[in-house]
Amino acid sequence: MQTFETFLADEQATVDLGLKLAKACTQQTTIYLHGDLGAGKTTFGRGFIRALGHQGNVKSPTYTLVEPYDLAPWQVYHFDLYRLADPEELEFMGIRDYFTQDAICLVEWPEKGDGLLPQPDLELEMCYHGEQRKVLIRANTEYGAALINHLELS
Ligand code: ADP
Ligand code: MG
Repeated sequence: MQTFETFLADEQATVDLGLKLAKACTQQTTIYLHGDLGAGKTTFGRGFIRALGHQGNVKSPTYTLVEPYDLAPWQVYHFDLYRLADPEELEFMGIRDYFTQDAICLVEWPEKGDGLLPQPDLELEMCYHGEQRKVLIRANTEYGAALINHLELS
C-alpha cells in the first residue's frame, strides 16, 4: 500500500501535518502513531484535534489512557497506551465501544495494545532527525491511501 515520507522542520510543521490530515477525514478513521518519547505524537494530535474544533488544551492522555473530545460530527478519541501494563486492561475499558462509525481514533503506542485494537487506516512512524523530525506515513486501507493522496496534493 501507499507510503509518504515528509520532513518536519519544527513543532509547527508537526502541528500542521495533524491539521491537514484532520481536515481530510471524511469517515470513521483510525490512526496509529509510532515513535520514541518526544518524537512528536502528541504534538501531531494537538494540531489534529484543534483542527476539528477543539479550543482548549490537548492534554497528553498518558495517565488516563484516553481523552475523549466531542467535536460534532465526530467523536475524537486520543489514546496513549504507553502505561498500559497488560493488553487485558483494554478489554476492561471496553475498547471496542470506542471504534464507532462517528469515531476518529488517534493511538499513541498502539504496539502496547497489540491484537486488541482495530486495524488502522494510517500508521505514522515519527522519528528524530537531528533536532528536527521525519515522518513515514503508511496506508493500510483504500481510505488511508486517499488521505495520503490528499496530503501529497496539499
Ligand atoms: P510524544 O507524544 O511523541 O512523546 P510530544 O509531542 O509530547 O512527543 O513532544 C515532542 C516534543 O518535540 C515537543 O517538545 C515539541 O515541541 C517538539 N517537536 C515536535 N515536532 C517537532 C519538530 N518537527 N521539530 C522539532 N521539535 C519538534
Ligand atoms: Mg505523547
